[in-house]
Amino acid sequence: MNPDPIHLFQYLDQTRQLYGNQIFLKDMKQNAIEISHKNLDSFKESICHCQECPLGRTRQNFVFGVGNPQAKIVFVGEAPGKQEDLQGVPFVGRAGKLLDKILAAITLTRDDVYICNVLKCRPPENRDPLPSEVEKCEPYLMNQLNLINPRLIVALGRISACTILKTKEPLKNLRNQIFKYEGIDLLVTYHPAALLRNPNFKKPAWEDFKFIREKYLK
Ligand code: URA
Repeated sequence: MNPDPIHLFQYLDQTRQLYGNQIFLKDMKQNAIEISHKNLDSFKESICHCQECPLGRTRQNFVFGVGNPQAKIVFVGEAPGKQEDLQGVPFVGRAGKLLDKILAAITLTRDDVYICNVLKCRPPENRDPLPSEVEKCEPYLMNQLNLINPRLIVALGRISACTILKTKEPLKNLRNQIFKYEGIDLLVTYHPAALLRNPNFKKPAWEDFKFIREKYLK
């Protein structure tokens, strides 16, 4: 049912008289995170004690991100795992070792790129991030991307891709195309953990990385 404009206006006006303007701002305020920082270090300082979701209570370390603050390429994974949680650094477990090898194969090191995750805290037992967790953490990622302003964002896996692109498409529909995020090119490829689980993905993943090398490193 669509309320007619006069009744809608009366309802909003009565609500405002009863509760004040605050009621219209409440939800915005809850989700508004102060993100106007000049550099990554000061931004990290300001959010590293985050308790916006319950993962703040179970984490060992807040895993902000590592690498070159002026990187041309940013890799975005899903969430810290056990090793990442213990060390406070993204992609240092088995999947991370594979990512290092893939980077080396296209003549890159961790110091050339920037690496981070959608979630900054480890979900228990490495379960998938909950929508409520993504909602709280996503502004942090978006601000990191805005501060770095790379030429290319590489979303590693479906969770990362779907969060940034606001889609529910399966990963296979998202590969092999260049998306835009705030004017920045964005490519989607397999998560390194998926390559460890299913070696059949290695060949197509290598095609993705060769494309990155040809288009963004020359
Ligand atoms: N998987 C991820 O998505 N991120 C990490 O940092 C480690 C494993």
